[in-house]
Amino acid sequence: MEILERAITEKGKVLSGGVLKVGAFLNNQIDVNLISAMGKDIYEKFKDCGVTKILTVEASGIAIAVITAQFFNCNAVFAKKNKTANLDGEFFSAKCFSFTHKDENTLIVPKEYLDKNDTVLIVDDFLAHGAAANALIDIVKQSGASLAGVAIAIEKGFQGGGDELREKGVNLYSLVVIDSMENGRVVFRK
Ligand code: 5GP
Repeated sequence: MEILERAITEKGKVLSGGVLKVGAFLNNQIDVNLISAMGKDIYEKFKDCGVTKILTVEASGIAIAVITAQFFNCNAVFAKKNKTANLDGEFFSAKCFSFTHKDENTLIVPKEYLDKNDTVLIVDDFLAHGAAANALIDIVKQSGASLAGVAIAIEKGFQGGGDELREKGVNLYSLVVIDSMENGRVVFRK
């Protein structure tokens, strides 16, 4: 997606450890026109899949999930990150290693917000090694809902999570795929 590639090139910052900072338009300050175009693009891709819920994980996935849900005219649900192991039976949960914080969380979604009648589209800002997407897929499975696919704003192709999902047969759609970020220069997949 050209306008997202341009925003990354002009406003993104490559940090050490393969991290891309996009606080200027996605993670801290939100460019509403840009994320609206992103949500519309995701809608065009999945509009015939019968999506009834958008699922993401707090905090940085929420903005794009909400604006995408508006195009589908459905609700957006976000998993919370929980540190305590003791959960009662009211939640779907899955363990997830955080790429950016380098710690393990348990993602939790109250059972009342997803069920077997739902068709879920997972939406997130980044796909790196795939831990967050896989944990959300696990939660969808636990709920008995159908998975329409996974839509990602920025896939970092060189970290492997996207290819793993494609190999598993997941319907993955990434608005942009980054092939490398060496010497501060972002190279996009054509
Ligand atoms: P994964 O679980 O696929 O390894 O990483 C995806 C999650 O980590 C996303 O939910 C996202 O919030 C965060 N993340 C991964 N890589 C980056 C990055 O380069 N920049 C930012 N801002 N977040 C990232």
